[in-house]
Amino acid sequence: MKSTIQIHDKHFEVFIEKTIIEHRIIELASKINQDYQGKRPLFLAILNGSFMFAAELMKSVNLACEITFLRVSSYQATQSSGKVHKILGLLENIENRDVIVVEDIVDTGLTMVEIKQQLLAQNPASLSIITLFQKPEALKQPIDIQYIGFEIENKFVLGYGLDYDGLGRNLSDLYVLCE
Ligand code: 5GP
Repeated sequence: MKSTIQIHDKHFEVFIEKTIIEHRIIELASKINQDYQGKRPLFLAILNGSFMFAAELMKSVNLACEITFLRVSSYQATQSSGKVHKILGLLENIENRDVIVVEDIVDTGLTMVEIKQQLLAQNPASLSIITLFQKPEALKQPIDIQYIGFEIENKFVLGYGLDYDGLGRNLSDLYVLCE
């Protein structure tokens, strides 16, 4: 029987084990090592969810590179009807830099589309996206993602940096909500 955990009222079971996640991250890092040979990329890791993925990834990236951490806030824009996500904490000048955005999971893709637009407005030399998980069925806007760890079903997951109500980020396996 798969081990399950309970957080508040919900039960979760192991979905992808830590060893499988870590093995895939090494593969992603070696692809980046090849693709960015001779370059000095700047990794922009989106907090909070990507902290564990970013740390594991960086251990296997052997390029001269930099990493910094950003947050994405949501706020109600005065002139607009929808929610707009705004990048917070980007102090580095990304103009002419090879930027790699590090995300935990792309669900509808809406957050990443906005982040990408805001970063492109700052004229990086190149911009690519790496996400550990993606839910292809949930995508609402097409977005090019250069590096994808795992394509998963459209179900709520937690662990490996991802939370449920603030909890579960420290779990080293990925869990999925029990049906
Ligand atoms: P999107 O704009 O792509 O719909 O949302 C992306 C963000 O939603 C992710 O960075 C993550 O914070 C959150 N998210 C999306 N799906 C899940 C999920 O299955 N579990 C958790 N814990 N967070 C998720």
